[in-house]
Amino acid sequence: MAGKPDCIFCKIVRAELPAARVFESETLMAFLDVNPVVPGHLLLITKDHYVSLLEASDSAAGELGTVLPRLARAVCQGVDAPALNVVANTGREAGQVVDHLHIHFIPRYGGDRLFGNWPHRAYGLGEQESIRRRIEVALAAPST
Ligand code: 5GP
Ligand code: ZN
Repeated sequence: MAGKPDCIFCKIVRAELPAARVFESETLMAFLDVNPVVPGHLLLITKDHYVSLLEASDSAAGELGTVLPRLARAVCQGVDAPALNVVANTGREAGQVVDHLHIHFIPRYGGDRLFGNWPHRAYGLGEQESIRRRIEVALAAPST
């Protein structure tokens, strides 16, 4: 697939931009983030251009899923990290900057206090069931 000419990650796929690549298959590529949160911070992308998880095909998502455990183990072993976060920033409000589907592998160490201490709240009366139903209905609708 040609991809979008002005997309940084498509340019990496086409080898028009350099990247510190660690893994490549027919459909996927993984390389080090150029500005890591932590050394060893890895990005896994689909070679095909999808803006985010919200528009990915089931088969593309399936391909990504098959390599998650292997890459997670390799990142942890490669930088002696006991833990990691695997995250897909999806949309601007969630921190997505590069509009080409990618998954971050971010090594974590005890006491690094990077992120993860998210605030939690309780549901209001009837709120949980209302939201559960709306998501259930959305899942049953034909995908676009
Ligand atoms: P986002 O915030 O979109 O989830 O994350 C995009 C990531 O891509 C950032 O962590 C950023 O450092 C990384 N990045 C942006 N441009 C390049 C690039 O040209 N090469 C590499 N290897 N990483 C990049
Ligand atoms: Zn792209």
